[in-house]
Amino acid sequence: MVQLLNAIAPARGAALAAIALCLLTAPGRAQERPDDWHIVVLGIAQDGGIPQLGCERPLCQDVRAGRRKAEKVSSLGLLNRRTGDAYVFDATPDLPTQLQTLTGGRLPRGVFLTHAHIGHYTGLMFFGRESVNASNVPVFATARMGAFLGANGPWSQLVAIGNIRLTTMAYDQTTALDGGVRVTPFQVPHRDEFSDTVGYRIEGPRKSAIFIPDIDRWETWNRRIRALADAADYAFLDGTFASPAEINRPIEEIPHPMMSRTRELLRGSRAALWFIHINNSNAEIDAADAAKEGMTFPM
Ligand SMILES: [Zn+2]
Ligand SMILES: [Zn+2]
Repeated sequence: MVQLLNAIAPARGAALAAIALCLLTAPGRAQERPDDWHIVVLGIAQDGGIPQLGCERPLCQDVRAGRRKAEKVSSLGLLNRRTGDAYVFDATPDLPTQLQTLTGGRLPRGVFLTHAHIGHYTGLMFFGRESVNASNVPVFATARMGAFLGANGPWSQLVAIGNIRLTTMAYDQTTALDGGVRVTPFQVPHRDEFSDTVGYRIEGPRKSAIFIPDIDRWETWNRRIRALADAADYAFLDGTFASPAEINRPIEEIPHPMMSRTRELLRGSRAALWFIHINNSNAEIDAADAAKEGMTFPM
């Protein structure tokens, strides 16, 4: 039954798209309109989510007491509102509800992974036999990330039985997707225990964005974040911590740029700065430049 639904869902999507095309597209007009593509913020929390397991901080208590909403793990969706085509950046443990928001629960056209920390790839499990038993969902990953998935269960089963189809990306090589969208990964410094780590430049027909949910330090990078931001319209950047006093471990063990430092570097930049990947300890989670789930940005 699951497989049958899988077979039907794309066909229904195509039919709806065809109807939409008839309604919306005048004869002779280009089929892809620039305002069809949008980025959708699917989650803003650091890997552990909010409330995090065992977290006794006021933020977590507020969620448990119903005084504020829970936050899903950091992810961006890229959606063509007319055709329904969708891509996701990172596969989080909240993937099913995030795809419910983005596509109504249909499978995405592709998944772009940043690295092998739990908030960024473990959502792949929902493509497997115990869930949708998907067929060849395209998963874009670096060579090291792909090798990790292929060599370690349970991810290796997804590869072996074809639930996902790995496409290896090289740093700074652009992948052109249908509909005039281009995606380019670039390496960033991070705690690379199981994989390397990338950020993305995402180019739509009109606008462009950069997405760097996890990075150790702007200063230890061989590139300048300001230059990347000045060449983009939106910058979704690591907002894990606002202050080194937030955590009870030395900040050197889990390095991230402080939000104030990132703001300083991007002041006056062309790109609008939006913090994402916010930790449950971060008192600036409600700051004006903190991304909120459900925000959309024309691409
Ligand atoms: Zn992370
Ligand atoms: Zn990480």
